[in-house]
Amino acid sequence: MSTAKKDVIIIGAGAAGLMCAIEAGKRGRSVALLEHAEKIGKKILISGGGRCNFTNLYSNPQNFLSQNGHFCKSALSRFTPADFIRLIEKHGIAYHEKKLGQLFCDKSAREVVAMLQKECRAAGVEIVLNCNVSEIQKGQEFRIQTVRDLFTSDSLVIASGGLSIPKMGATDIAYQIARQFKLTVTPTAPGLVPLVCDQKFLSVFGALSGISVDAEVLCNGVSFRENILFTHRGLSGPAILQISSYWKAGDSVEINLLPNTDLYSILKTNALSRMKLDNFLAQFFSKRFIEKFCETFFEVKPIYQYVDKDLKKIANAIHHWRVTPIGTEGYDKAEVTCGGIDTNELSSKTMESKKVPGLYYIGEAVDVTGHLGGHNFQWAWASGFAAGQYA
Ligand SMILES: Cc1cc2nc3c(=O)[nH]c(=O)nc-3n(C[C@H](O)[C@H](O)[C@H](O)COP(=O)(O)OP(=O)(O)OC[C@H]3O[C@@H](n4cnc5c(N)ncnc54)[C@H](O)[C@@H]3O)c2cc1C
Repeated sequence: MSTAKKDVIIIGAGAAGLMCAIEAGKRGRSVALLEHAEKIGKKILISGGGRCNFTNLYSNPQNFLSQNGHFCKSALSRFTPADFIRLIEKHGIAYHEKKLGQLFCDKSAREVVAMLQKECRAAGVEIVLNCNVSEIQKGQEFRIQTVRDLFTSDSLVIASGGLSIPKMGATDIAYQIARQFKLTVTPTAPGLVPLVCDQKFLSVFGALSGISVDAEVLCNGVSFRENILFTHRGLSGPAILQISSYWKAGDSVEINLLPNTDLYSILKTNALSRMKLDNFLAQFFSKRFIEKFCETFFEVKPIYQYVDKDLKKIANAIHHWRVTPIGTEGYDKAEVTCGGIDTNELSSKTMESKKVPGLYYIGEAVDVTGHLGGHNFQWAWASGFAAGQYA
């Protein structure tokens, strides 16, 4: 067993840790990045379906959940999507906007990891793989005991992420270290995760697994307009993943299946139609979906046979479909972890702990969670950059 003295030790070679290491290394700090997995950036590699949605052109503080909505502003303003795009372009990585400002690699997420690795090399960062931290102590300096070696450092940056996808190497070490140093951790929950519905729902809609519908989904005063997807366990798709970060056990989710449309007026205009309701509504939806929906909620008959009150009820059911999920698919399927190190514990400028000088927290470990669409990586880059200027 050997002892290595560094200026900065970073735990976790994911997006945030790599960015922080590059920046601290560029300042001439000696940096070691300790990663317990066999390779770096595993989540980057699987992100965006293998193409890494590495940022979002429109990323701004409104795209983030946190007990303190202001905390993320400082870091986000000092390292913007344009800054990351500049890095991507410097390395000749081709990319495109898929939709809604979401930028993806044309070829592969591997290019982003290779880029970060190259930048680490240029900044003189030492990357230590298969490195399990067993104990941390703080005296004059930090002492980080690993299964192999002892490291000592002036600064310790925790970049070990959240709890999502344990099989990709997620651990709770960030929260354990926080507890050791008596830092508050806000309650954590799976975010950007499919919702699970009860047997009654599944006995009807489970058969629609794979079908998606453009909808507006509302929960706890927040709404998202994108597709919802029926699954064999409940609901998923971008609109559901987005709302899942706001959903709490017991909440129902309201789904407007025809946003920006006044279905009651349309039905009134067609009140004399001899078309059956499901056939009429098939102009807006897939036939399989609307047949199922209609047979579940209404007596299906030609439109002229409904009285005005019925038409109102039909329109209401389509615009305000309430579903009460029984849970989420949990950390195994969650893209992110909501909650984490309480932002009151950290400086928004440096990401340093207010109580423990030299201890920094960045990335998903912190109670800052982005919406779907490249915002989580933008937070990882920005918070990593911020800490990298000071650690
Ligand atoms: C399937 C999937 C797809 C996603 N797609 C996107 C996307 O396209 N765009 C987007 O913006 N976001 C996406 N995300 C979210 C994004 O990946 C995370 O928000 C981001 O990776 C967080 O970066 P981080 O560096 O804080 O944590 P992580 O990337 O999780 O990195 C933490 C690192 O710490 C290591 N570690 C953990 N515990 C220890 C320990 N005890 N000792 C040493 N090392 C440890 C881990 O192995 C890991 O390498 C996706 C997430 C998932 C799961």
